[in-house]
Amino acid sequence: MKAFYADEQKRHDPKAFLSSGAPQPNPEQPERVERLLAGARAAGCRIVRPRDHGLGPIAAVHTPEYLDFLQHIYQRWQRIPGASDEVIPNIHPIARGGSYPASAVGQAGYHMADTACPISVETWESVCWSAWSAVDAADAVLAGEAAAYALSRPPGHHAFADVAGGFCFVNNSAVAAQRLRGEAARVAILDVDLHHGNGTQGIFYARPDVLTVSIHADPIRFYPFFWGHADERGEGPGLGYNLNLPLPRKSGDEDFLAALNTALRRIRAFAPEALVVALGLDAFEGDPFGGLSVTTPGFGRIAEAIGGLGLPTVVVQEGGYLCDALSDNLTAFLTGLGR
Ligand SMILES: [Zn+2]
Repeated sequence: MKAFYADEQKRHDPKAFLSSGAPQPNPEQPERVERLLAGARAAGCRIVRPRDHGLGPIAAVHTPEYLDFLQHIYQRWQRIPGASDEVIPNIHPIARGGSYPASAVGQAGYHMADTACPISVETWESVCWSAWSAVDAADAVLAGEAAAYALSRPPGHHAFADVAGGFCFVNNSAVAAQRLRGEAARVAILDVDLHHGNGTQGIFYARPDVLTVSIHADPIRFYPFFWGHADERGEGPGLGYNLNLPLPRKSGDEDFLAALNTALRRIRAFAPEALVVALGLDAFEGDPFGGLSVTTPGFGRIAEAIGGLGLPTVVVQEGGYLCDALSDNLTAFLTGLGR
């Protein structure tokens, strides 16, 4: 299997975020890349540098207003006397119905959901290459590969069409799905990250051509809190094309696989021509977030069940944080997919 990754993706190096109000080191560290590369190599992947695809495939799922913001906000922020080095919002509209602000501080609050996605001078470049890795993985599958892996970092599934959040800026899984839509009439996205894929859900919420399914820790007391509940089913023409399968905290392999069975049944009924797996490895029992209790062999079983769909599959990296088994968990998944 080809694994797409560019070294520019390592430059984004966020320093901190607020967790329950307390400043903590940001867990979305460049070191994740080394562990994931090792895991992909151990699974027999060939690491391939993606091409520069320009803004086109990113603009297919994000608003021009938001992309202009992401591209230029760091330089604008630095002109504010006394501003922080990283762009971090401190005021948010309680609803989106008001005016679009002209100022850097106002726009940061408009386009950033939380403090977990600080923007530094390197962020935009890393974000573009992360998305282009997803584009090339989709292109590899369109060219006939059974599966391809995008080592997308920074991750993407918490990014909406015009909002960053939860370590995410550009929604790489959505970019891959939209790219596949160029040739596939229907595409399914299966998100197995510990956290609900709220941005992905938001981007496709009113569309019947992309089915979004997410298995995650119950957001009733867990990030992203406002999304990921079972009664969110899509809207307008997209009603019935979104499925959320929240699991109680600390659920292990058997509960996860039971939810996966439900997810796969829905995907089969949708009859997609291609699949995107939003692969978070943070559902692992030893992940620093500690939300679910999937084991390393469990990731292999999850992948094997997904592989049973027999669909051309783009695997896009989402979460999964520094712990001893991060490489092994990726190896288990990528190996299991081809079994
Ligand atoms: Zn996550």
